[in-house]
Amino acid sequence: MDKSIALVTGANKGIGKEIARQLADAGHTVYLGSRELSRGERAAEEIGGDTRALQIDVTDQRSVEDAAGQVPALDILVNNAGISGDGKTPDLEDLDTVRRIFETNVFGVFAVTNAFLPALRRSAHPRIVNISSGTGSMAASAGQVTGVMASPTPSGRFAAYRSSKTALNELTLLYAITLADEGFKVNALAPGARRTDLNANVATAGGDPAEGAAGAVRLALLPDDAPTGQFLSWDGTVVPW
Ligand code: NAP
Repeated sequence: MDKSIALVTGANKGIGKEIARQLADAGHTVYLGSRELSRGERAAEEIGGDTRALQIDVTDQRSVEDAAGQVPALDILVNNAGISGDGKTPDLEDLDTVRRIFETNVFGVFAVTNAFLPALRRSAHPRIVNISSGTGSMAASAGQVTGVMASPTPSGRFAAYRSSKTALNELTLLYAITLADEGFKVNALAPGARRTDLNANVATAGGDPAEGAAGAVRLALLPDDAPTGQFLSWDGTVVPW
């Protein structure tokens, strides 16, 4: 694809920052979504290229609409912003925590996607990449997946986070079906366990965030004849829903 305009939510650190870096390095214009503008500005300065910080808190409808008003044209939306929670099984989950996680990981994706759809509809090659998680795979939870995508937590733990990513997967599929005739490619990525602030469990043992980010960039730059409505691992293999 030619030079594209991309927005990555939660781009001031972690996997999102690496997605932004790789897109900028490839010559694309990148809006670095950041709920704290100064953090986005710092990341944009560090990455360089054609990067611009954009204040966007995905849980704040006003912030989302203000951000959309500043981006009239968009080719790539990466819904990356996400939070994890405390690892509890569903019987012990506190509903306020569950709501907070769904507010960011699910409702935030609805809000941002719908707000930026008019700009994406002006693109000749619109792409949406939802950063999900292998832990959101129901097949993995049911023990039906072997190998690297086998559930790393074969229990009911991280119930709020994992069910939010399951919901995000379904949302990916529903957007993909809805927008297919308009040329959109809407796919979900399992970036793999990465060393970021998100999850203390993988803070030391996880892989390089840049490797997971590369999987998102591949989906962001899919050619027109590529499939839509897929759940893919960072290495391009299909993850069972
Ligand atoms: P991270 O380093 O904690 O980064 C998360 C990013 O999301 C930060 O920029 C954070 O901003 C932002 N964010 C959180 N809530 C937000 C909100 N309401 N509005 C806007 N931005 C918000 O975590 P990460 O590991 O890179 O996670 C990125 C994505 O990958 C998430 O969707 C996560 O579920 C997914 N994922 C990660 C792993 C892993 O092992 N790391 C595995 C599977 C999936 P602040 O700096 O302001 O907090």
